[in-house]
Amino acid sequence: MKTHVRVLVIGGGAVGVSTLYHLTKKGWADVALIERTELTAGSTWHAAGLLPLFNMSYTVGQLHKYSVDLYKRLPAETGQDVSFHVTGNLRLATCRERMDEYYKYCGTANTIGVPFEVITPQRVKELWPLLELGGSADTPAIIGALYHPDDGHIAPADLTMALRKGARSAGAEIYEHTEALGAERTESGEWRVRTSKGSDIIAEHLVLATGNYARQMGRLLGLNVPAIPVEHQYIVYDESPELKAYRQRGGRELAVLRESDKSYYLREERMGWILGPYENGAPARFADGVPEWFGRSLFPGDLDRLVPHVEAATRRVPALEHCGIKDIVNGPISYTPDGTPLIGPAWGMRNVWLNEGHSFGITAAGGAGWQLAEWIVEGEPGIDMLAVDPRRFGPYTSKRYVVKKNEETYRNVFTIHFPDEERPAARPAKTSPLFDKLSARGAVWGQRYGWERANWFAPSGMARRDEWSFRRTNYFEQVGNEARLMRERVGVIDLTPFTKHEVTGPGAEGWLDRLVANKVPAKIGRMALSHALTTRGGIRSEFTITKIAEQHYYVVSAGAAERYDNDYLVKSLPADGSVGLRNITNTRGCLVLGGPKSRDVLAQLTDTPLDNATFPWLTAQVIETGLAVDVYALRVNFVGALGWELHFPIEYAHHLFDALFEAGGPHGIGMVGMRAMESLRLEKSYRMWGSDITPDYTPFEASLDRFVRLKKGAFIGREALERQLAAGVPNRFVTLEVHQVSDADPLGNEPLFDRAGRMIGRATSGYYGHCLQKSLAIGYARSEYATPGTELSIEILGERKPATVLPESPYDPENLQLRT
Ligand SMILES: Cc1cc2nc3c(=O)[nH]c(=O)nc-3n(C[C@H](O)[C@H](O)[C@H](O)COP(=O)(O)OP(=O)(O)OC[C@H]3O[C@@H](n4cnc5c(N)ncnc54)[C@H](O)[C@@H]3O)c2cc1C
Repeated sequence: MKTHVRVLVIGGGAVGVSTLYHLTKKGWADVALIERTELTAGSTWHAAGLLPLFNMSYTVGQLHKYSVDLYKRLPAETGQDVSFHVTGNLRLATCRERMDEYYKYCGTANTIGVPFEVITPQRVKELWPLLELGGSADTPAIIGALYHPDDGHIAPADLTMALRKGARSAGAEIYEHTEALGAERTESGEWRVRTSKGSDIIAEHLVLATGNYARQMGRLLGLNVPAIPVEHQYIVYDESPELKAYRQRGGRELAVLRESDKSYYLREERMGWILGPYENGAPARFADGVPEWFGRSLFPGDLDRLVPHVEAATRRVPALEHCGIKDIVNGPISYTPDGTPLIGPAWGMRNVWLNEGHSFGITAAGGAGWQLAEWIVEGEPGIDMLAVDPRRFGPYTSKRYVVKKNEETYRNVFTIHFPDEERPAARPAKTSPLFDKLSARGAVWGQRYGWERANWFAPSGMARRDEWSFRRTNYFEQVGNEARLMRERVGVIDLTPFTKHEVTGPGAEGWLDRLVANKVPAKIGRMALSHALTTRGGIRSEFTITKIAEQHYYVVSAGAAERYDNDYLVKSLPADGSVGLRNITNTRGCLVLGGPKSRDVLAQLTDTPLDNATFPWLTAQVIETGLAVDVYALRVNFVGALGWELHFPIEYAHHLFDALFEAGGPHGIGMVGMRAMESLRLEKSYRMWGSDITPDYTPFEASLDRFVRLKKGAFIGREALERQLAAGVPNRFVTLEVHQVSDADPLGNEPLFDRAGRMIGRATSGYYGHCLQKSLAIGYARSEYATPGTELSIEILGERKPATVLPESPYDPENLQLRT
């Protein structure tokens, strides 16, 4: 056994072995994997082997696509068959909302090049002759389906063996019956892993791919990994006479069938069937770790939970009635609170990488190994991985939170994923001090990064709840009222969840300046919108950096980026102690006061002059406001209105809120929620970190050129930007007015086409601009299509709508209101 390797992968399931394989593909042969028992002994051996390409996420969709393509090549490359049955995959729809979901997905699929067809009930019957089209209350009529001709199912153990063969033939070592018992950092900064073999392995990088053991493995390193398994079961049926007869007549293997509205999948297995439901009531398991006795075992089957799905499936496919049940497989699947895996760096420690929390781990293994290996070897992943980055979760993922969320995620695998859905489990958890006050004003809450955020405010007499939809729905008018309030009078948004850091010390300015592409403000009271880039020039983070005092900067970024940004900042700190960094997210609240009357309101609470000469746009002052001291008043906002962001010591939240509403009463002050903010910021073409600005695009592509100072000196990503400028910027940011929209606005991830119907870009966000009264999208188009006035089209829920490229910031392009 080697005692020193460059990378040690812990865990020999499909995901760990794929990571090992891809490390060797990237040219790193000095790599090894340890497995506590035998390869595939975790969840991999009992997986049903389905490879669904369908996924609503732009990132996960790309990972799945890579996997499916890889698995087709692997047998030829390794000589190991993987039993990939390319049967196709059929997802049925029995209601319009389901079809909307499929059409929304089609937009994403188009942008990542996944082949699919939307088919009629007649075509469903042709592809799946043993199925009833339905038409009763019990078995609703099929109104259409989504068909992926390219996916199917695979033998998970064979897949793992093929990856193993590929890795080993390139020099990787695999040690079975070798458990990682602990890990410590060595003085040289490597990791020393104690193993059950009695010897240690020292590694430069550690990859944790331990499946159901993620929490206990994480604990060995001091990480609270938010991955807890949930029970998942499938039924294996005996031979089916009808299926046998159909196949003997020459019928091809039936596509994997998913009746999403009844929450089950069905596929052929040796002339019989495998039926797998996602049931209500499936419990989370092993929240405190996998007990020693579990090993390769399964849980007893729970027939009661299965019955409703078996009945529904039997009505749809009557052939099921004539075959007995051979077995019930009930095993643990690792889940995370949002159902998406954890792929990327661990927080707070160097060179520890997670490839955990996989609930579709057979499907994801290829892509997850591919991107993680790239990240380790090259220092950056090749695609935007924000959606799977482990640091998208924060310290709030307590055991009970993860259990409740994971159980909820499991039972919702097949429910319709509305773009505005806000699931209720484990809420409210993190709240601003103003939660009760905003509730009293009708707040309809959503959750992001564990925080409750008011999406909109129901006026009295209106129910405080969403009717989720892919189209305009019950809150549409009220969101419009809130947007108009901000544009015409004065509104307040509670943005307390913002991530806030304090950067101090003699090295603060120089250090920040090297991290971001913009010039860090040198004068007290100045602020700069700044982007930290990847070495490839993509946008990693967005910070508003304000100089509060000498050697003292206040750095604000997206609320959902707290751990992600904090981890990056901490890991980038100089070793000489010249920079102090404090995460002060929870010690300061933030209220946005915006609108033409905002100055009149604030003026009643402070003696600080608020006129343009002494307090111009894009400056900040530390002021007293009412009884509150030490309020950082930043004359900026994300809605394009005259106004201030007030960042105050959290203990003043109630006082400031009451004072603002008292002073604003005569001006008609009111609350504004997240959805109105979305509408307002799109009217100003403001990009949102995480959706519109991501590592996939450089600031030049994002048309943020004015925030890049190539001449200021060295900063991370500068060389890549210079190379891009020399080669030509391939894409440019566009704002689009979408025409002929009656009830389905763009929401992001829609493909853009030129007049000849060629795909030339993608929308990253979209909404209705209530004040402009236009349906708007923003996103990226190939540079030659980005000139204002260019006519394009955009696909929304399966329909191509004409769209015109608008000049940037269609609302108040001169920023007159901001400067007023
Ligand atoms: C009933 C069922 C059906 C499923 N069907 C599908 C499907 O159709 N399609 C699909 O994509 N997914 C499916 N899944 C999910 C899939 O099985 C998992 O997502 C996948 O196997 C996860 O692979 P993994 O490598 O992450 O974890 P695992 O396969 O669990 O591997 C982790 C390995 O790490 C080892 N390990 C843990 N701790 C240590 C340590 N300290 N030292 C050394 N080794 C350690 C374990 O022994 C284990 O072998 C199904 C799951 C279940 C339960």
